[in-house]
Amino acid sequence: MNETQSYISPSPQGYYGRFGGAYIPEMLHRNVEELKTRYLEIMHEAEFQREYQQLLQDYVGRPTPLYFAGLLSRKYNTNLFLKREDLCHTGAHKINNTVGQILLALRLGKKRIIAETGAGQHGVATATVCALKGVECIVYMGEKDIERQAPNVARMKMLGAKVIPAVSGSKTLKDATNEAIRDWINNPSDTHYIIGSVVGPHPYPDMVARFQSIISKETRWQLKEKTGTELPTHVVACVGGGSNAAGAFYHFLDEPSVKIIAVEAAGYGIDSGMSAATTRLGKEGVLHGSRSLVMQTEDGQVTEPHSISAGLDYPGIGPMHAHLFESGRGQFLSATDEEALKASFEVAKLEGIIPALETGHAFAALDQLSLTMEDRVVLCLSGRGDKDLATYMKVMDA
Ligand SMILES: *Cc1c(COP(=O)(O)O)cnc(C)c1O
Repeated sequence: MNETQSYISPSPQGYYGRFGGAYIPEMLHRNVEELKTRYLEIMHEAEFQREYQQLLQDYVGRPTPLYFAGLLSRKYNTNLFLKREDLCHTGAHKINNTVGQILLALRLGKKRIIAETGAGQHGVATATVCALKGVECIVYMGEKDIERQAPNVARMKMLGAKVIPAVSGSKTLKDATNEAIRDWINNPSDTHYIIGSVVGPHPYPDMVARFQSIISKETRWQLKEKTGTELPTHVVACVGGGSNAAGAFYHFLDEPSVKIIAVEAAGYGIDSGMSAATTRLGKEGVLHGSRSLVMQTEDGQVTEPHSISAGLDYPGIGPMHAHLFESGRGQFLSATDEEALKASFEVAKLEGIIPALETGHAFAALDQLSLTMEDRVVLCLSGRGDKDLATYMKVMDA
């Protein structure tokens, strides 16, 4: 890659380096093409921006605080700032994207929304904005995830969404995604598919990253207010598909002094056969419409991933992240189930914040960085831990 190119924006065909693009069946071509030709024009409309910013402020609750975590800072011998996406309406960063996509879908004349969900957080965020705008909502969810995320399933139903179980494969996120794609193929003209992370065919990765980029946009001025400088030394975020990370990194990607730290889920351990650490285990391949790194067998069958957190239990990563990994711009670390749990309990005790298990992985990686008192570390606290209480309770009972 030459130096004038940006890590932020993909090529017109949706490529970040070698990764990205739109690998879709012929029958999805019209939907994806329509989105590709219209998304930037719509997102740049003054009226769209006015409505989007207003909802982010009054409905989502932005700007979210940038909180200086005093006791954790002392423990890790640094200055640690938490970007509090856990305080967003519905409890995670996901709603930044769903608010944006519902406004976009309505401008495209769509009347029906479909979505896939793993932890249920994206499903809840989608059901929420569909209720807000009075639009029909169908959410596909793996049967296994429906069991382990029962409170979120109840929320979606209460919000008026129809939750359809995906019963194939591992019965988790990737299977739900397959079902959603099937639905979109069968309902090409009236339906918009709200993808919940920076994955899928172009333009989804770029569109979702742009909607989530509000995270780093706010971080810049908030850090300036608190420290006198806009730039952190490190930005740390967990990566499932990579949307909270993309949002937290976005406005820092072209600032070479800022270290970009992505944390994947190692499950029982990288080499245990029960992991979701895509950059460590994955090879180049096509998954859900884009070329990226994918966990797969020798003959290209997608491997069943494992993570204790449903939101990180995905065998791929978005193409932006695959490129950040390959180019060396991003440093990719991982944390096991056990390390993430331990970190979540520590954050709860030291700061009075119960984080989502996904975010526990980001906290667990702080141990792996050599931090000093000169550093300003921003960690994206992607969500709150209410949804993970059953898992936390099991640990306390053990
Ligand atoms: C969904 C989710 C994630 C993982 O998704 P990304 O697209 O990688 O951000 C992380 N944290 C929380 C709280 C989530 O709900």
